Amino acid sequence: MNANVKVVERKCFIDGQFVSSSKQFTKINPADGTVVAQVHEADKAMVDAAIKAARRALHGPWGKMSNQARADMLRAIADGIDKRFDEFLAAEMNDTGKPWNLASHLDIPRGAANFRVFADAIRAVGMDSFHLDTPDGKGAINYAMRKPLGVVAVISPWNLPLLLSTWKLAPAMACGNTIVIKPSEETPSTITLLAEVMKEVGVPDGVYNVVHGFGPNSAGEFMTTHPDVDGVTFTGESATGAAIMKAVAPTVKPVSFELGGKNAGIVFADCDFDAAVAGMANAVFSNTGQVCLAPERIYVERPIFDKFVAALKAKAEGLVLGWPIDKTTTTGPLISKEHQQKVLSYYELAVKEGAKVITGGGVPKFGDARDNGSYVQPTLWTGLPETARVVKEEIFGPCAHISPFDTEEEVIAKANDTRYGLASTVWTTNLSRGHRVAQAMEVGISWVNCWFLRDLRTPFGGAKLSGIGREGGMHSINFYSEPTNVCIKL
Ligand code: NAD
Repeated sequence: MNANVKVVERKCFIDGQFVSSSKQFTKINPADGTVVAQVHEADKAMVDAAIKAARRALHGPWGKMSNQARADMLRAIADGIDKRFDEFLAAEMNDTGKPWNLASHLDIPRGAANFRVFADAIRAVGMDSFHLDTPDGKGAINYAMRKPLGVVAVISPWNLPLLLSTWKLAPAMACGNTIVIKPSEETPSTITLLAEVMKEVGVPDGVYNVVHGFGPNSAGEFMTTHPDVDGVTFTGESATGAAIMKAVAPTVKPVSFELGGKNAGIVFADCDFDAAVAGMANAVFSNTGQVCLAPERIYVERPIFDKFVAALKAKAEGLVLGWPIDKTTTTGPLISKEHQQKVLSYYELAVKEGAKVITGGGVPKFGDARDNGSYVQPTLWTGLPETARVVKEEIFGPCAHISPFDTEEEVIAKANDTRYGLASTVWTTNLSRGHRVAQAMEVGISWVNCWFLRDLRTPFGGAKLSGIGREGGMHSINFYSEPTNVCIKL
C-alpha cells in the first residue's frame, strides 16, 4: 500500500556529483515501519568538501550571472519539479507518511512555486539611492547594491520537507548565494531528488550541495561551526535554534530562525459557526498536527463552548486515518516511532494533569501493517488550567486543549501568556474586534477567519521563542544579501 516500495539509496550531492559514504542510516516509512531508503551520512570531510565546492562556485559562472539569468534558472527548476511531480510526491509520501491529498495539493506544488515566487521577487527589487549635500555645494551620490551573503547553510525540518527547504533555497539562490543543505534525517529524499533537477537544468556544479546526517556531532554541527559558512538559515525546534546560535557565535554568522510554536485559536460567539469549526479542525489536524502554525490551544467564548466542543469532536472523529496513497485518507501517521512516543507521553500527561478526554487519547488499531506505523488518534481535551504542561508546551501532534472564556481582555491575556509567538487565528464576524484582537496577538502572523493563508511576499516568522527574522518576498531577499553602500563625490 506504499507509494513506492523499492528501497532507494539517498547519497550526498557535492560539487555536482552524487557521493557515497561508508556510514549509512535507514529511513523508515512511518505508515508501516518498512525501510524505504538507505541514506549516506556525510562525515566532517564530506561537509568540508561541500562547503569548499560552494565557495568555489560563488566565484564561478554563478557569481557572474545576471539576476535575469538566475531568475530564468529558478523558473527552470520549478518546471523540473513539475515534470517529475509524481516522483517527488512518492518520495515525500514515503518519507513522511503524508496523505496523497495533502502532499499533492500542498507540499510538491509549493516546492515548485517557491522558485517562481523568488524568480519574480529578485527581478522586482531595488535599493536605496540618495543625493547628499556637501559643504562645497557639489554633493555626493550614495547608492546601495546587493551582493550575495556567500555560502549559506540551510538546515530544515521534517514536517514540510520540500516546501520549507525550497522556501529558503529559492531566495538564497535568487540572490546569488551557493548552498549546502542538510535536510532532516527523517526526510532525505525530495532534497536529494532536487539535486537531479538542478543538474538537469544546468545549475553550475557546487551551487547546490546536499549533505545528509543528524545535528550534534554530525553534518548539522559540522556546518554551523564551519568558519567558511557565511550564514545559517534554520527551521526547527526552538531548543535546536538555541544550540545553533551557540555554535555559530565564535564565527559570527547571521542567522535566520523559524522555530516552534504553541499557538492560540480564539473563537468568539459571533463567529460563522460552521466556518469556525471547519477552519479550526483543519488547523488542528492538518498534516497530523505536525505544523508549526497549528493551534494546540483553543479558546471558545462561553455561550458557544459546549456546542463548539461537540462539533470539533465530530470533525475529529470523522477524520480518515489511512494509507497515505489512499485518496480518501485525511490523516497519516506521525513522522516516526520516536515522535509517536513523545506525542503519546503528552496524551498520558494530559490525563495525569486532570484533563477530560473529549475524543482520542491513544493509538488506533488497524489489524494490518499500519499497526507497525506511527499513527495516533486525533485528540481533544478540556478542563486543564492554563498552567498545565499540555497547555504550555509544543506537542506537535493532532491534538488541542479547548477552554472557555468570558471577555476579550481575558482571552487576549491568555493567548499571549506563552514564551512562543508564532501564529494565532481568531474567528469573529465583528470587523473591529477581528482587527483589535489580531493586532493584540504577540505573534508573527495573526489570522482572522482563516488559517495558513498568506501572500508569499509578506513577512513570515515568529516573535519571542518562535524565531529570529522574517522570511517571504523582500524579507528573505534582505537576509540572503549583503548590501554595500557606494558613495560617489560629484
Ligand atoms: P529539529 O530542531 O529537531 O530538527 C531540525 C533540523 O535541525 C534537522 O535537520 C536536524 O537534523 C537539525 N539539527 C538538530 N540538532 C542540530 C544541531 N545541534 N545543529 C545543527 N542542526 C541540528 O526540528 P524537527 O523535529 O525536524 O521539526 C519540528 C520543529 O520545527 C517543531 O518545533 C516546529 O514547530 C518547528 N517548525 C517551525 C516552523 C516555522 O516556520 N516556525 C516550520 C516548521 C517546523
